[in-house]
Amino acid sequence: MSGESPSIVLSYDHAASVVRRQAELVRTERASGRGVERVTLSESAGRVLAEPVVADRDQPPFARATRDGFACRVADLRAGGLRVVGQLRAGEAWTLGAIRPGEAVEIMTGAAVPPGADCVVMVEHVAAAEGWVTLTGARELAPGENIVPAGAEARAGDVVVPPGRRLGVAEIAAAAACGAAELPVFARPRVAILATGDELVDTTEKPLAHQIRNSNSYSLTQQVRAAGGEPGKTALVRDEKAATERAIRGTEDCDLILLTGGVSMGKYDFVEEALLALGAEFFFTGARIQPGKPVVFGRLMGTYFFGLPGNPISTMVTFALFGAPLLRAMGGETEARPRFGMARVEEEVRVKAGLTRFLPASIRSDVRGAHVRQIVWRGSGDLAAAAKANGFLVVPEAAERVAAGEIVTVLEI
Ligand code: AMP
Ligand code: MG
Repeated sequence: MSGESPSIVLSYDHAASVVRRQAELVRTERASGRGVERVTLSESAGRVLAEPVVADRDQPPFARATRDGFACRVADLRAGGLRVVGQLRAGEAWTLGAIRPGEAVEIMTGAAVPPGADCVVMVEHVAAAEGWVTLTGARELAPGENIVPAGAEARAGDVVVPPGRRLGVAEIAAAAACGAAELPVFARPRVAILATGDELVDTTEKPLAHQIRNSNSYSLTQQVRAAGGEPGKTALVRDEKAATERAIRGTEDCDLILLTGGVSMGKYDFVEEALLALGAEFFFTGARIQPGKPVVFGRLMGTYFFGLPGNPISTMVTFALFGAPLLRAMGGETEARPRFGMARVEEEVRVKAGLTRFLPASIRSDVRGAHVRQIVWRGSGDLAAAAKANGFLVVPEAAERVAAGEIVTVLEI
C-alpha cells in the first residue's frame, strides 16, 4: 500500500453539511466556467435556466376580467338597473370609449375591462333582460372585484424566472407568456459511472451461478439524469488496484466521478487506495447512516468523486443524499437539497440507535397529508423490496423507535 487513506466518519448532518459547503463553492467559483446552450421551450423541461426570463410587457397587459359578467361601476350597480351598451369577448378590442354612469358592458373572462368600469359583476349574480341588468340579492360588491389590474402580476422588465431555477411546468408556462421561444440553459455536467466488482456482469450476458448482474450503473444513470447530469463514461472495473486506477484516469473528460462498490473493509476493496495513489483528497470516508455507511466523498485534481457502496439500495440512497445535491449545484441549480418531506407513520418502527436510517417505505399522499409504512427488506441488497417502495422513512441517529402516528421525515428518490 502506498499509504493509508484517512478515516473520516461523520454523522449524516455533518456529511450533508460538507457536501452543501462544496456545492456552495461550486455554485460561486465555477459559475463563470459553465457552458450555456439554447434549447427550444418544449425541450427545456428539467434544464437549468442560465439567464433571467424577463417580462417583455406588463402582466396582465390590460385590466383583465376574471369572470363572465358585466363590467360597470360598483356605485351605479348599487343604485339600480344598468343599460347594457355592448359586448366584449376575450381577444376583442373595446373602441367605444369609457363607459358612462348607468351603463354596463357584457364581458367574457379574459377580455380587457373597458375604461370607466371598476368591477365585473358575475353573470350568476344579476338578472339581465331586454338590454338592462340588475343586481340580484343583497350582494357585497367592492371596486376591483373580478378584475386583475394591468401589471398586477408583473411589470415590464421584472424578472419572472431567475437563473439557477430548474425549468418545470410553471416556469415553462411563465417563459411562454414572456414570449421566449428558446431559453438559455446550462450545459449538463458529464458524469462518469464506474461499477467495481469481479462478480459483476452486464445485463446482456448470462451470469454464471456465482455472478451478479450490474444494476447500479442503470439506477445511477437514471439518478444522474434526474439531477441534471449527462452520463459520460461508464465501465465495469475489476477488483484490482491497477485496474481501478486506470479506470479513474480514463474519466478525464468528466466533471464528476461516481464509483460503486469497493469501499468497504474487504481485502479486494481498492477504490480508496486507488484514489489515494492518484493523489485524491478525502472530505469523508464514511457516514453514520444505514444503508450506505462506507460512502466516500472527495476531490481528485479539481474533480469531485463519490465512492458509493456497492449494495444497490446503498448506492441509490447515498447518491440521493450526497451525489444529487452536488451534481445539481454543478449544473448551476440554486436550490439543490435532497427531496425530503413529512409523513405520518402507520406502524411502529424499531431500530438500533447510532445510525440515521433510511428504510425503504411506501408513502401515500393525499390532500390531507402523507402516510408512510416501512417495506419489509432483507438489507441493502434487496432490490425486490426497493421496487415495492417509493421512498425512504428516515429515523434519526439517536432514535430506537418511532411510534405509530408520529410524524417523520421521508426521502423521495
Ligand atoms: P461492495 O460494496 O463492493 O462490497 O459490494 C457490496 C454488495 O453489493 C455485494 O454483494 C456486491 O455484489 C453488490 N454490488 C456491488 N456492485 C454492484 C452493482 N454494480 N450492481 C449490483 N450489485 C452490486
Ligand atoms: Mg465489491
